[in-house]
Amino acid sequence: MSKLAILGGAKTCNSAWPAWPVWDDNERGALLGVLESGQWWYGEKVGQFEREFAELQSCRFAVSTNSGTTALEIAYRAMGVGPGDEVVVPAYTFIATATSVVFAGAKPVFADIRADDLCIDPADVARKITPRTKAIVPVHFAGHVAAMDHLQEIADKHRLPLLEDACHSWGGQWNGQGTGSLGRCGVFSFQASKNISSGEGGIITTNDERLADCCRSLTNCGRIKGGMWYEHGQVGTNVRLTEFQAAILLAQLKRIEPHRARRAAAAATLDEELAQIPGLRPLKNDPRNTRRTYHLYCFWFGPEVWEISRDQFVDALNAEGIPASCGYLSPVYANVCFQPGDNPADNPTIRRPAEGSDLDFSRTSCPVAEETCKNIVWLTQSTLLADEDRIRMIALAIRKIYRNRIDLQNKELADVR
Ligand SMILES: *Cc1c(COP(=O)(O)O)cnc(C)c1O
Repeated sequence: MSKLAILGGAKTCNSAWPAWPVWDDNERGALLGVLESGQWWYGEKVGQFEREFAELQSCRFAVSTNSGTTALEIAYRAMGVGPGDEVVVPAYTFIATATSVVFAGAKPVFADIRADDLCIDPADVARKITPRTKAIVPVHFAGHVAAMDHLQEIADKHRLPLLEDACHSWGGQWNGQGTGSLGRCGVFSFQASKNISSGEGGIITTNDERLADCCRSLTNCGRIKGGMWYEHGQVGTNVRLTEFQAAILLAQLKRIEPHRARRAAAAATLDEELAQIPGLRPLKNDPRNTRRTYHLYCFWFGPEVWEISRDQFVDALNAEGIPASCGYLSPVYANVCFQPGDNPADNPTIRRPAEGSDLDFSRTSCPVAEETCKNIVWLTQSTLLADEDRIRMIALAIRKIYRNRIDLQNKELADVR
């Protein structure tokens, strides 16, 4: 029995995990090419990247933006989401899925997720629809495609559009169709932590030409397709991508499939290993998710079996040299920005939307999302790029902690005393 690293023993894993982002001479050459061309602004590379990305997701159109967040904001506006409207979003996601609804002037309504895949629960979506609902937003969480067939049925029944937050789903497919092409539109992010990146960046995909034109106009100062340079048809903004970013993204596109395959192989190894360890439960795979991407690898931790908390487990795992994390601290609606303030005068520069509006989430409760915040464990996409021996070391470290868990239970007692 070896001593746990967190209690002063030797680490299971001593060397570094794969660094992120990944680049080589392709990105370097592309970047210098743009620099030396003097064509830095919204041109050929941006257009080429949009075409190639649309093709990857089996979509007719793609409109780039400077982030996933602005892609969401623009998509909501283009779909006509505004004051008085409600948008059904999952309670467990990155904050931007919901805050961008508020930026569009509308109200997010939180639906719970399913424990099996951490994606929005269609049954709860059906319960959350009201006459004010304007759109439903599935997030393909961690890269697992949400239950699109069932969600589409609900959306059709109520004549509502689906907007896919595909910010974890570059190259993902459902029944052979690219994510971002399944709903009315989809959005993707190329922020630094994402599976392909240009530091910042985003894109909206759709098969609807009018929606694509509207998004293009909104992202580009309200300009009109085929119009004059200084002709502005609507109130838009400027969230354009640069040629530098597009050049990097074109090089990064070539990494999507080989990286995706490596992460999927690592995930298969982890699924097999973790299923054999008491109290751990990998997520379920859905055969309709025909090309599965992994922005994260998530698994359930069972404190009742281990008799330590998830947080203690993650601390012990980190000490063994495994980069795991606890993920989101709380469901989206429990964030300070969505809760009434104790003293609104505390910070006059920060106005919480819940104050003085119908955005009061103090009684919202999504039990599965809450349980997820307590007991899920995340490994990030770059960790999954490690070779097979490394990936098996994760299981080795977990088994070591399991064997020695009584030492952590005792440490907890000692800490309490
Ligand atoms: C990253 C992310 C976003 C926002 O993307 P940014 O490019 O960081 O603005 C939106 N939704 C989800 C689910 C994300 O993970």
